[in-house]
Amino acid sequence: APSVADFVLTSAVLAPLRELRSPRSDKRTYGHLFVVGGSKSFPGAVLMSVLAALKTGAGLVTAFVPESLAAAYAAQVPEAMWVGWPETPEGGLALEGAHLLRERISRASVLLIGPGLSREAETLALAMDIVKTATVPLVLDADALQPEIVRAGKAPRILTPHAGEFARIAGRRALKDFPSEAGEARGGEVVTVLKGPVTRICAGGCVAHSFFGGPVLARGGSGDLLAGIIGGLLGGNSGELLESACRGVVWHGLAADALARERGQVAVRTTELLEFLPPTLRG
Ligand code: AMP
Ligand code: MG
Repeated sequence: APSVADFVLTSAVLAPLRELRSPRSDKRTYGHLFVVGGSKSFPGAVLMSVLAALKTGAGLVTAFVPESLAAAYAAQVPEAMWVGWPETPEGGLALEGAHLLRERISRASVLLIGPGLSREAETLALAMDIVKTATVPLVLDADALQPEIVRAGKAPRILTPHAGEFARIAGRRALKDFPSEAGEARGGEVVTVLKGPVTRICAGGCVAHSFFGGPVLARGGSGDLLAGIIGGLLGGNSGELLESACRGVVWHGLAADALARERGQVAVRTTELLEFLPPTLRG
C-alpha cells in the first residue's frame, strides 16, 4: 500500500487570506457558491452555512431552498440570493424541475449540498441527480453524505462527515483507504474531512490533522458553519480542494478558540463564531 504522510496544520495556511484584493477585481473574480439545502423540519442549518460562506470572501452566494422558506431566509440574510424551489408535501426540496436546477447549477463555481436537506427519498433523489451530472467541485455535508451519493458522478469533491456520517458512507473502511474507493479510482479527486475533537483531512497520500477548536464547538450548527466556510473558500477561488478544506478547518477552529477565550465555552450561540473570523485573520 502507498505510504500516507501525516501533517499537523498550523495557522500558516491562512496566509493567502490576509493578502489585499486586486483593485481591479469584481464580484465575479471571487466565484459563485451555490448552496442546496433547507427543509421545513431543519430550516436553520442552511442559513448558518450561508452566513458562514458570506464571511469567506466569496463573490456571490446563491441558495436553493424550499419555496415556502425563501422569503424568511431573505429577510434574515439579504446578501445571499435565495431561490425558492418546489417542495415536497413534507417540506423538503422536490425532484420536480431537476433538469432546470442542473442547468442553473452549471453556472456555479462550486456547489455545497446537504445542510438541512432532510433524508426524504425524493429530496435525496434530487441530490443524487445533481451530484451525478455536476462538473463543478462539490462540498457534500450532512444529509447529502449517503453511500450512493458520495460515490456518484465524476466531479471533484470535499466530504465533511462527523464520525457517525463517516461510518455511514465508509462502512468499516479506514480514513486513508476511503478516498480511492470513493471515486478517486474513477479520476475524480476526493478530500475527506473527518470531523471530531481532532479533525483529520485526508486526500490521496496524506492526512492533515487540525488540533484547533474545542468543546465550545460541541453544539448544533458548528458543522453547518464549517461546510459554509469550506464552500465559500473553494467557490471564492481561495485554493484547490485540499487547500480549501485545510484552510476552512483551521479558520473555523481558530475562531472557535478565540470565541472560547473571549466568552467561555458555555454561554454562547454557535453563530457567535462568525464574529471571530475577522480577528483570526488579523492576528
Ligand atoms: P457537526 O457534528 O456536523 O455539527 O460538526 C461539529 C463540528 O464541531 C466539527 O467541525 C467538529 O470538529 C467540531 N467539534 C465538535 N465537538 C468538538 C470538540 N469537543 N472539540 C473540537 N471540535 C469539536
Ligand atoms: Mg453536521
